[in-house]
Amino acid sequence: MDMAFTLEESEIKNQVRKFVKKDLLPIYREVDEKGDLFGDVKKKFQSMNLLKIYFPEEYGGVGGTFVGLIIALKELGYGSIIPTTLLTGNSLVAWSLYNYGSDFLKTTYIPDLLSLKIPAGIAFTESDTGSDPKQLKTVAKKRAGGWLLNGSKKFITNSGTGGYLMLFALTDEGVTAFWINSKHKGYKVGKRESFIHCGALDNGELYLDDYFVPEDHVIGQVNKGFEILVRAEAIGKTGFCAGYVGLAERALDLAVKYANTRTHRGKPIGRKFQMIQVKLARMTTRVAAMNSYLYQVAAMVDQGKNFVPDAARLKLLVAEDVKEITADAMEIHGAYGLSDEYEIGTLFKAGIGVQVIMGASDIQRVIIANDILAKGKYDTE
Ligand SMILES: Cc1cc2nc3c(=O)[nH]c(=O)nc-3n(C[C@H](O)[C@H](O)[C@H](O)COP(=O)(O)OP(=O)(O)OC[C@H]3O[C@@H](n4cnc5c(N)ncnc54)[C@H](O)[C@@H]3O)c2cc1C
Repeated sequence: MDMAFTLEESEIKNQVRKFVKKDLLPIYREVDEKGDLFGDVKKKFQSMNLLKIYFPEEYGGVGGTFVGLIIALKELGYGSIIPTTLLTGNSLVAWSLYNYGSDFLKTTYIPDLLSLKIPAGIAFTESDTGSDPKQLKTVAKKRAGGWLLNGSKKFITNSGTGGYLMLFALTDEGVTAFWINSKHKGYKVGKRESFIHCGALDNGELYLDDYFVPEDHVIGQVNKGFEILVRAEAIGKTGFCAGYVGLAERALDLAVKYANTRTHRGKPIGRKFQMIQVKLARMTTRVAAMNSYLYQVAAMVDQGKNFVPDAARLKLLVAEDVKEITADAMEIHGAYGLSDEYEIGTLFKAGIGVQVIMGASDIQRVIIANDILAKGKYDTE
């Protein structure tokens, strides 16, 4: 069951669902391996202009809702987590420029981010930390007309694609967000990572060696980048979780199909064994709960509410549930669950990503606990 979507939102859902069924599912394996869409499917995907859904017309968008964008990301996740990952990177950066950037940054870059002309991402993590801004070592020093950056980052998605990054570096009294062009002097691409869950996704190290950022490429206020990081990550977490809710739905559907077709002494295992029914009931309930909360958090963004603690709760819920759902779905498949012939193993591996990317689960617990302790009670605003 879905929330009461508007006509436009329902159209987005139908359009993306059609694309997933017809174009993405037949090639999901190669997409996961390559870490990117390719050929005509990529062209079709780009022409759907999904990132334009949420952003205002003056920056090349169509002025729709964040819920609309989340619908698209969730539907895509049913086919492969890769397109959701790519769109999430560009969307959280566009959101940050829109909310914190100067008019120059907004008009110059948001339209190209929305049309996917430039790939983009966020660069926070370093070799010693992906969680603690106080441990960052990349520094920015003030120079005439701008800032000189030195340091390195690790595990950065889109750091080798020749695109743009919203990069966080230490300044005198805090962290500042900078807009970085990876083609500029002083930027060097380092080792590429290879992950168990999404193959050749462009991700890895980057080095900054006297990289100069002009003053007009600082995002928001100097030393106030932590707020941008927290809010941009909350947008990213919501988009990312949308893809993983889609992935969980697919795992559930595959488990149901298997339980209905695999027989034991002539009877489908789903009908015969209560243990299978228990799993299916649990999985279905979890998928339903994740769906409801996903759209609730997305609606909070549209309503201008403080969505940061809820995005952390959503991320924790989705990380835990996807882990259980994909594991249960694999167990229902028996030995076939481990076979490369079956899709469920791919989903199990992809599902691991949501536990770490955009902040480990314990970090979400810290955010959630601090929020409720500060408020003193559960707030259902
Ligand atoms: C596929 C992939 C893509 C990624 N893309 C990006 C990207 O584009 N940009 C980017 O900046 N990063 C990216 N990352 C990095 C990712 O965000 C970090 O790996 C993640 O935030 C965890 O950081 P860490 O690995 O340094 O763990 P650490 O911070 O070292 O944490 C290790 C463990 O200690 C726990 N821990 C740490 N601090 C606390 C605390 N205060 N309280 C309780 N427990 C704590 C954590 O929960 C975790 O279990 C990516 C990672 C992957 C795998």
